[in-house]
Amino acid sequence: MSKVKRVLIVGSGIGGATAAYALRRAGVDVHSIDIKPDTPTAGSGICMLHNAMRALDSLGLAEPCLDSGFSFNAFRQFDAAGELFRTDPAPPSCGIRRPELARILEGAAEGAGAVLDKGVTVKSLVDRGDCVEVQFSNGTEGVYDIVVAADGVYSKLRDDTFGPEVGPKFAGQSVWRFNAPRPSQVDAFCLYRSPSGRTVGSFPTSQDSCYIFFLENSVDPLRIPDGEAAVMLRERLSEYTAPAVRESLDLVTDAKKIIFRPLDITLVPAPWNRGRVVLLGDAAHAPTPHMTSGGGMAIEDGVVLAECIAAASSAEQALVDYSNRRFGRVKTICDASLQLCRYEQDNPFANREKSAGLLLQTYQYLGEPI
Ligand SMILES: Cc1cc2nc3c(=O)[nH]c(=O)nc-3n(C[C@H](O)[C@H](O)[C@H](O)COP(=O)(O)OP(=O)(O)OC[C@H]3O[C@@H](n4cnc5c(N)ncnc54)[C@H](O)[C@@H]3O)c2cc1C
Repeated sequence: MSKVKRVLIVGSGIGGATAAYALRRAGVDVHSIDIKPDTPTAGSGICMLHNAMRALDSLGLAEPCLDSGFSFNAFRQFDAAGELFRTDPAPPSCGIRRPELARILEGAAEGAGAVLDKGVTVKSLVDRGDCVEVQFSNGTEGVYDIVVAADGVYSKLRDDTFGPEVGPKFAGQSVWRFNAPRPSQVDAFCLYRSPSGRTVGSFPTSQDSCYIFFLENSVDPLRIPDGEAAVMLRERLSEYTAPAVRESLDLVTDAKKIIFRPLDITLVPAPWNRGRVVLLGDAAHAPTPHMTSGGGMAIEDGVVLAECIAAASSAEQALVDYSNRRFGRVKTICDASLQLCRYEQDNPFANREKSAGLLLQTYQYLGEPI
């Protein structure tokens, strides 16, 4: 029986919801909060690589993801006109719409007895050494053995506990994202390389839908004027004649359907705890998305944290074990993701072979046990 009886998880995103479910399965009381009032019903897609699917499978959650998403096992590269120039085998992955993944993870956690409060955040927190006392924004309070900061890359709890210096930095690229009906050609992870140095990517998120992204270099984070995103994206991708890109792009006329954000990254040095407050997911490590692995790392964190908490003789030991098991693996993925980002920034077309080589090598690494 775990020495840890009660855990607060701040943030019910991919990592927080996975941790909530995994901890409930280990018999720990879980209180989960999220600042958003509702589970998201809109959002882009996400690729769950083989390691993420394996971690989900260990919790019995791979099947619902596969039922809702689209599984694929190839990585294809096309030119801007849509001519296929390279296919590599990829480990079995699942593309899925983010709201669907959120529904599956949060549904599992709540179904297993986690208490989930939406529209709530931490007002203040005191680590007493043998417990953590927390006051919430809704006027309630609680006492916990461990508090997990799973509140994402811009984590307030991390800033309050570790200081702002470990926070995110701009990686030199921004990403434009939107959803579209799935063209039949998009049956795998597809990258469309233009000779002028642009990369558009797409993968299926269900039988009927796909997700499209475009990476753009800039020295400083770009700002997009309200209502301009659709026009600006079309201008940037005017050299693309690949039907899978062109036709999807033509359907996106509403700027609100385009999600734009700078790529901000962080990797907090181990250990990931200060006393009984511990970081998980993007709060601890936000890689660039080039390895499509940040969510997978957050899911693995949730599984490993629950294992460490279930097995350790004390809360302190559990948090040491968790950091020790996670840091090296996460650093390898953050480094590979950033190298792929640098290849893209430099010249994606010229670096396409190097990128594919690093991607395949890192896929192999991801297949190793956690
Ligand atoms: C462009 C892009 C593409 C990506 N593609 C992939 C991919 O294909 N595959 C993959 O594995 N990963 C991908 N990722 C990474 C992935 O999205 C993240 O790694 C993942 O969402 C991290 O999960 P998380 O739970 O740590 O954080 P989040 O999912 O960000 O969840 C954090 C939660 O905390 C809540 N929160 C925030 N602040 C507070 C607060 N103060 N109090 C309470 N709650 C709070 C938020 O509302 C949110 O629900 C991508 C990332 C980007 C930017």
